Amino acid sequence: MEATKSFLLLQKLYETHDLSKEEWLYLLEHYTDALACSARELAHQVSTHYFGKRVYLRGLIEFTNICHRHCLYCGLRSENENVVRYRLDQETILACCEEGYKLGYRTFVLQGGEDTYFTDERIEALVKGIHERYPDCAITLSIGERSYASYLRFYQAGARRFLLRHETASKQLYESLHPHMSFEHRIKCLKDLKTIGYQVGAGFLVGVPGQTMEDLVEDFCFLKQLDPHMVGIGPFMPQKDTPLGNFTSGTAEFTTFLLSLIRLMLPDVLLPATTALATLDPKGGEMGLLSGANVVMPNLSPIEVRHQYALYDGKVYVGTESALCQQQILNNIENVGFIPDFSIGHSPRCC
Ligand code: SAH
Ligand code: SF4
Repeated sequence: MEATKSFLLLQKLYETHDLSKEEWLYLLEHYTDALACSARELAHQVSTHYFGKRVYLRGLIEFTNICHRHCLYCGLRSENENVVRYRLDQETILACCEEGYKLGYRTFVLQGGEDTYFTDERIEALVKGIHERYPDCAITLSIGERSYASYLRFYQAGARRFLLRHETASKQLYESLHPHMSFEHRIKCLKDLKTIGYQVGAGFLVGVPGQTMEDLVEDFCFLKQLDPHMVGIGPFMPQKDTPLGNFTSGTAEFTTFLLSLIRLMLPDVLLPATTALATLDPKGGEMGLLSGANVVMPNLSPIEVRHQYALYDGKVYVGTESALCQQQILNNIENVGFIPDFSIGHSPRCC
């Protein structure tokens, strides 16, 4: 009887793209391998309907690992003295774009810690510099919290996408993981970005210490309401020099189950198979794609600094130069029957 109910809820999610809080909780609490298998099949069907076999490639440039924040899980938190800090200058970032452009990328994702050196003026100049040189490419920023005015300025300079995970939609858990940060402000940033017109990516950590099924229900309900263009979820991965360094990671199986559920809830959303998932399990990237994911973000950062962008331990591809990293990822995509797509790949809702 119980098994039947969870499968019926899955079917309801597939048909209506929505569940009540009680239904979400029931579904998550009754997770089994068989349920995950059904969710994966449905999610795969939905993503194929919207995107065919295409998997969008985005080139990731990790341009600074300096951060003034204190997120308990992250190796880049300001208290971590064991990480060698770096920031790339504009010329080096443009050289990464140049290499990426030659490799075929038409989206550049500029990600970094919240580094106060990168004032609004500097980010604006950087975005303008890339936009002028590569007008046929999309620029995505992932640089944390700023004011409405700052986000607007970057948009006017040419940035069109912004990734800002909400990390968890539970205010209590959020505040326990992010000292001196406000949950309300995080949510305001996401809403500001949407209002300005960005294609917005939200998302959460799976299996972060202290997370309950009720917290995950909040994540699903929040995402349904926000209706972002992209959702980035990945397993929590311990980083030894952080206060959460001794906890165990989230699991690949549960993360891919949640990926499937997001695909069913937001059928045309862009959904990356994250590096954290690929790090956790050698088959994680492929499992993600087969569970409804349709975006991959190979690394274009200079090889000398890759290992210093240590959000968590054991990150894959840190020692692999961009072309080879891309080749390995392309092989993984093709191995599971998908087709790598280097086009600008806007959210279907923006075309
Ligand atoms: N500073 C920006 C962007 C860089 S961090 C920001 O915080 O938005 C990018 C993402 O890395 C974060 O959103 C977080 O979800 C993820 N991350 C950080 N530490 C992690 C860890 N230990 N395990 C898994 N993901 C982590
Ligand atoms: Fe800084 Fe982002 Fe890491 Fe938080 S998650 S410490 S904001 S880099």
